[in-house]
Parts: sequence; structure tokens; C-alpha cells
Amino acid sequence: MSSIYLQCIEETCGQRQDAKRDEYACAACGGLIEVKYDFDPFDPEELRRTWHQRRLSGEPIDRSGVWRFRELLPFIDSSTRIVSLSEGSTPLVGTRHTGWWAGPVHLTIKHQGNNPTGSFKDLGMTACITRALARGVRMVACASTGNTSSSMAAYAGRAGIRALLFVPYRQISAAKLAQALDFGAIVVEVGSTFDEAFELLRQIAPELGLYLVNSVNPFRIEGQKTIVAEMLEQRAWRPPDYIVVPGGNLGNASAIGKGLRELKTLGFIEKVPRIVVVQAAGANPFYRMLTAGSRDLIAVESPSTEATAIRIGHPANWKKARRVLEWTDGFCESVSDEEIFEAKSVLAEDGVGCEPASASTVAGVRKLVRAGKIERHADVVAVLTGHQLKDTEYVMRHRSESQESRQRLRAEPSLDALRRQLETVLAVPAP
Ligand SMILES: *Cc1c(COP(=O)(O)O)cnc(C)c1O
Repeated sequence: MSSIYLQCIEETCGQRQDAKRDEYACAACGGLIEVKYDFDPFDPEELRRTWHQRRLSGEPIDRSGVWRFRELLPFIDSSTRIVSLSEGSTPLVGTRHTGWWAGPVHLTIKHQGNNPTGSFKDLGMTACITRALARGVRMVACASTGNTSSSMAAYAGRAGIRALLFVPYRQISAAKLAQALDFGAIVVEVGSTFDEAFELLRQIAPELGLYLVNSVNPFRIEGQKTIVAEMLEQRAWRPPDYIVVPGGNLGNASAIGKGLRELKTLGFIEKVPRIVVVQAAGANPFYRMLTAGSRDLIAVESPSTEATAIRIGHPANWKKARRVLEWTDGFCESVSDEEIFEAKSVLAEDGVGCEPASASTVAGVRKLVRAGKIERHADVVAVLTGHQLKDTEYVMRHRSESQESRQRLRAEPSLDALRRQLETVLAVPAP
């Protein structure tokens, strides 16, 4: 049986933590914690076959795109109650317009919006809530830009654990808030940014005995890292040149990097794809740090972008994400809200819907190809993080209220009126 330990990621510290407690910060230096394993020796070929065979199984643990790869998550054993909603197993779809528009590159989409609550957060949450339940936790909490809360509420509900959620006042989409309420979470609207809500939660968590499920909880990262095993399996274990993700709190980028590193160490892949993180221009502290060549984060005090899922000025996982860019020779790009909207529209022409934050990936690829940082015709996987219906206010603002789009019409109920209205939009211009 592989063994597990928790360790501080700071090179100058690296202290092993007391494995009996799930810490979010190193007891010695306050640094980020990661889960590490002394893996039993694997035969990658055999394990690939086992993983593949599990796809035919009807067992819940095998149907989950996270737990199907449970050899990579050896913190559970046969007696652990797995809290799963059959997450993962998301499609990898090709694109026509989008790859051409963004490059040309060979662009495929890993659509994490096809998860039980509509975002990639479910991958981390199944791992984290399973861990919490095994620990006898009675109440979980998170601060959220929306999707973490939807996911936490669902998985906590399933586990019979109470869920407490801090969200910035009027800063998250109605759909996400509704999901959390629907699953029975207690919602506290506090502060005007995610960062503010998160900081308050961190301060109050110890005295209330709250178990935090934000991505500073290293077990979130463990669940989320399985996306790379699934993606590589779907590609017959041929790594792409680039994997592109949006960057908010930078947990996803950290998880994908950790997953790749482990698969490389364990002999599943030779080549490691380069990780590209894309931030919104109004909320790009990581990008600022990297372009300034600074060793410290350049926090953004009042982050602003319509892509609310990545409206974060002080990402908690920046040190893990920086390490990932170093390991994979990756980089970071920053895109405007206009560029995000354009990318989202092009994806829509391919029949692919997503939330605005997710479309930042495609906008980033286009910019990087134009700048010569991504080669034309490169093999690129963009991770679309959330479902189209997560933020319908955004769509209505852009597609329906805008006059020039002429997509949404209103007509009096008569044939004449209908003809007049339709004439203006359906008229074919003379050749
Ligand atoms: C959470 C989230 C992100 C940002 O992920 P991080 O791990 O915080 O960087 C991006 N897009 C969507 C849709 C999300 O829900």
C-alpha cells in the first residue's frame, strides 16, 4: 500500500505536517501544504489497462472520473465511504472554427462544465468531502466566486455534512447562488471581493471549528489532478504540446501540474505538456508578477472582470502555480473582457457553450499564437472550466440587450408585423 504524508512546499522549510490534521498552512512557516505519497512501484501498462477496464464497470467508484484513477489517490482504502456524484468523465471535443480562429492550432476542448454541478470544482470536491467525512467533520465551509460553493453544497449534502458559504455581496451569478441554496447551504454574503470574504473566513474558521474546502485544502488539488489522467487516456496517452487553463485562485493550474509531474515520475508519460495560465486583464496578479520578474505576487486590490469565476486579486495558490510553470516551462497570458467575449462567441459557433472565465483560455491561445509564443498548428487542449448556464446574466447582457446584435426581436402578433421585423434581420444583401 502506498503511503501518504503532508508537506510544506516552501523550499526553505519543507516541514512534514502532522498527518492526523488536515492543515491549510504549514505549522512552522505558514506556507502552502501538499499531499505527497511514497507510491508503490507501478507497472504503467497494467494500470492503464485496469483504468480502461473500469470504464465498463457499473460500480459508482469506477464510474467516477476521479476514483477510477484511485491508485493516484492512495489516501482512501477499501473501508472509506466515497462521496461521489459520478464526476469527471467529461468529453474531449474537437473544434472547427475555434482552432482556426485562435491559431490556426489543433485545438481540442476538455469540457469540465459537464460535471454534476457544472464545473471542474466537482473533481476536487469529491476528494475533499470524502476526506472530511472520513475525518468525522460536521461542518465544511468555503469562500467562493460561485462554483466552489455549488459543488461544496452538493457534496456536503450527499455526505450529510452541513455547509457554510461566504460569498462577496452581489458578486456571484444568480445561477451559482441558486445552486448553493437549492442544496441547502447556509449562505453568508460578506465583503465586496472574493479575497475579502476568503480572508474573513480564514480568520474565523479556527474558532468555529470549520473545515475549509477552498483550494488551499490540499485534498481539493488531489481530486482535480485526475483530469490529466483522464485527458491523456482519451488521447491514447499522447500528451499535447500545451494545456491551457484560466487562472483565478490558481488551484486548477497547480493540480494539473501536480498530476502531470506524478504521471511523469511514475512512467506514464515522457513528454510533459507546457501549462499556460490565462488571467483576465482586470484580475491578473499572477501575470503581473511574472512579467515584472518579481519573486512576490503583485496583488490586485480591486479585481474587476465580467468573468466572475476568476475575479480574484490575491490568489492563494500562486506559489504552487509558479512552480508548475517552472516544471513545465509554461507561461501566463492576460486577456481583456472584450477578447473573452469574442472567444466565447467563436466557441458558440462550434456549438460549445461555457462560462466567460472558461473562454479566456481560447482568447489567450489566440494572443499567444499572434505573439509567436505558441507555434501555429500546435496541439493544444483548452480546459473549459464551467457550464454555459452558470452565468446567463452575462449572455443576456451581451446578446440580448445590445442593440446591434439584432438577435432578440419583439413583434406584434400579426403577420404584417412579423414580416416587417424579420425583413430587417433575414434580408440577404444583394450580391
Ligand atoms: C474556479 C473557477 C476558475 C478558476 O480556477 P482556480 O483553480 O481558482 O484558478 C475558472 N473558471 C471557473 C468556471 C471556475 O469555477
